[in-house]
Amino acid sequence: MTIQWFPGHMAKARRQVTEKLKLIDIVYELVDARIPVSSRNPMIDEIVSNKPRIILLNKADMADAKVTREWLDYFNLEGTTTKAIAIDSQSGKGLQQIGSLSKELLKGKFDKMQSRGIRPRAIRALIVGIPNVGKSTLINRLAKKNIAQTGDRPGVTKAQQWVKVGKELELLDTPGILWPKFEDQDVGYRLATTGAIKDTIINLQDIAVFALRFLSEAYPERLKDRYGLEEIPEDIVDLFDAIGSRRGCKMSGGLIDYDKTAELVIREIRQEKLGKLSLERPETLI
Ligand code: GDP
Repeated sequence: MTIQWFPGHMAKARRQVTEKLKLIDIVYELVDARIPVSSRNPMIDEIVSNKPRIILLNKADMADAKVTREWLDYFNLEGTTTKAIAIDSQSGKGLQQIGSLSKELLKGKFDKMQSRGIRPRAIRALIVGIPNVGKSTLINRLAKKNIAQTGDRPGVTKAQQWVKVGKELELLDTPGILWPKFEDQDVGYRLATTGAIKDTIINLQDIAVFALRFLSEAYPERLKDRYGLEEIPEDIVDLFDAIGSRRGCKMSGGLIDYDKTAELVIREIRQEKLGKLSLERPETLI
């Protein structure tokens, strides 16, 4: 899904999420485990403000497990009502933790309701996240069926539907779609490397330059192994030449085809040919 986020669209998205927040007890903020910061909405803390929240590190199946553990430690601070868990919405791994953690975070609120004589009801939750982070996949997994995703369209007033997840949890059927952080160019590159934004938006060679520089730093051995390199050339053009020549990405005269090389590298990263990668670590934030 590609959404053009103009200021008007952002304001509308924010309004829609804020409206939905009134109906729910807890927010499930979906992020990509490979880029938990770049795949967040920059204003999420302000938008969600005082609601309990679970940060769901989705697509954990594609991320570096060691780095995901570091992110869990980073997000799971004592004494707050924001917690984090790693999940894989496609296979369903980790999803069973969502219900129990939600109950734990809302125990105080529900005990209070009970002591006031309010009849026990299911916990109500809203999934929010940027496009392509896996919101529909998660809703369908939790609901164990395909929920029609009509989204929020202008001029179409649709009654909010609740999707039952067992007896004790209900989800709003339309997730809150929020915009990513655009101001930072590296954020755009990380989103593009994981395939979260369309390749046509950012030049493919630029994405590959970013990705190769990152791999040279963070996963040099995997880069060497994959492309049969003895050493990683320091100059990025030399690196393109080495990979392109190894993999036969050449033009008719025998010169290296940089577009083809870029496409190959990006495709192989997304297909996990270089293994499970995390493109961000908590320590790089400090
Ligand atoms: P939405 O725009 O947030 O609703 O995202 P979608 O649910 O449409 O998912 C975007 C893409 O990510 C789809 O191709 C999904 O199959 C894929 N996806 C979603 N969750 C996972 C996951 O946990 N692991 C993997 N490997 N892929 C996922």
